[in-house]
Amino acid sequence: SMLPSRLSSSMCRAAATEEAPAKEETFEYQAEVDRLMDLIVNSLYSNREVFLRELISNCSDALDKIRFLGVTDTAAFKTGEELEIRIQADPVAHTITITDTGVGMTRDEVLSSLGTIARSGTAKFAAAVKEAKGDANLIGQFGVGFYSSFLVASRVTVETKSNEDPTQWAWESTYGSNEFKLREDTGEKLSRGTRITLHLKEDAHDLADDKKLGGLIKQYSEFISFPIKLWSSSQ
Ligand code: ADP
Ligand code: MG
Repeated sequence: SMLPSRLSSSMCRAAATEEAPAKEETFEYQAEVDRLMDLIVNSLYSNREVFLRELISNCSDALDKIRFLGVTDTAAFKTGEELEIRIQADPVAHTITITDTGVGMTRDEVLSSLGTIARSGTAKFAAAVKEAKGDANLIGQFGVGFYSSFLVASRVTVETKSNEDPTQWAWESTYGSNEFKLREDTGEKLSRGTRITLHLKEDAHDLADDKKLGGLIKQYSEFISFPIKLWSSSQ
């Protein structure tokens, strides 16, 4: 089936006591996703900074989508927020947070986008890896997508809010666990869009630095047509 299979469902305690407890569900990745993640992490470890290009390009796609919707439906812009990308490095928590004010994802969109391979990613990428015979520079030219987050992160959280869904969702996965969790997000509210938090692996802690990230953005994302705001601070 297209959707990942659910492993379990449990109640977790909500952050504030007066709130109803949020339901958390655990899903197993499709086998192809597991394979793709291993392939990405094993073949691109020396070119791991491509994660930033991939995540920024997803932000840009999401911003393009809401801008397009806004042409015919001005209410799509109702939050009045700038269409932009915000990148925050936290050198103390060892995290990078990438936020966009794009279209966001409904629950169904989260499930069909993050946990499956909607596009035939594995086959193409596997062919490229074979052809490039381990040349990370050649392999790195391929769009490997969201899962490249796990090149630098041991744990990834995606919080997202779409105009088409009243609920803000939180998706979370730890590399190597073969599963992800989905729950109603009781954290900081997004008016619309997506916030991705990368909990960096120990050998990638140096990336939680705005100067380093700024250099990578210049190198990889110079043609992004939305403003990218970048800063370092600890929470
Ligand atoms: P691709 O961008 O080639 O479709 P990705 O693996 O990069 O593949 O992303 C998979 C899907 O996840 C996207 O097509 C999109 O539907 C969804 N997605 C990822 N990041 C975002 C985001 N920041 N905002 C909204 N949707 C996103
Ligand atoms: Mg992409």
